[in-house]
Amino acid sequence: MLTLRWGSATDVGRVRSLNEDSLLAVPGLFVVADGMGGHAAGEVASQLAVAEFARLAQQGPARAEDLVDTVVRANEHILQAGAEHGEQFGMGTTLTGIGVVGGEHGEQLAVFNVGDSRVYRFAGGQLDQLTVDHSAVQELVDAGQLTARAARFHPRRNVVTRSLGSNPGPAPDVWLLPPIPGDRFLICSDGLTGELEDAEIAELLGANPDPQAAADALVRRANEVGGHDNVTTVVMDVLEVVAEPQVDATAAEPPADTAAMPADAAPTAQLPIVGRD
Ligand code: MG
Repeated sequence: MLTLRWGSATDVGRVRSLNEDSLLAVPGLFVVADGMGGHAAGEVASQLAVAEFARLAQQGPARAEDLVDTVVRANEHILQAGAEHGEQFGMGTTLTGIGVVGGEHGEQLAVFNVGDSRVYRFAGGQLDQLTVDHSAVQELVDAGQLTARAARFHPRRNVVTRSLGSNPGPAPDVWLLPPIPGDRFLICSDGLTGELEDAEIAELLGANPDPQAAADALVRRANEVGGHDNVTTVVMDVLEVVAEPQVDATAAEPPADTAAMPADAAPTAQLPIVGRD
């Protein structure tokens, strides 16, 4: 069992007239999508992507494969909508987030990414970017031709090399992490990271223990220093991790009061019920 706490915020910024970012923050699933396309189509694309993940969240516990399948379905829906509505043709979106997934080692956090929205971990006062941008400037950084800092001001900084709404569909990166109490995660669009340096993001995350206050403070600060783009934040804290009880019938002692049970009692009545909260 994981106990999580989260908050989220999104804002159009101070330059754009539309907010084309979308977010989802529900138990077990946290997603940010940054839409692209003319005539408000970017907003449609990011909403379609997030809606597909909202459907996944309603189906109960997910596996990492479900997250990948959902990216595939969201991509298909965006392509289909673009084909049916001419003004939406060519629309796309980034997508990144964290899902709580089950597995043989218990619950894990699956971080997934397509595009240049980001997931960070904030632990012990240190901020680490977990996702790797799929962007033109990231390729220059990887090639040693650009520093990460200079990438924030490069003229091609908005060019993504992977997005939903493309054919063939994008392969999401997926990383699995053990949940650790005290860890905080930030999911954000590039409207945040284009305005604030990592040090300032870390400072605001550290100064605001409440995740909703942190999400709000980050958006507010991005607008104060420029607000050139839509800005979206989801801040999620891992509060508690309780290991699931192990299913091991051979080790279970029958309760003392079952000793007098009639011999024809159902044998399962002596087994402890496991897997419940
Ligand atoms: Mg953006």
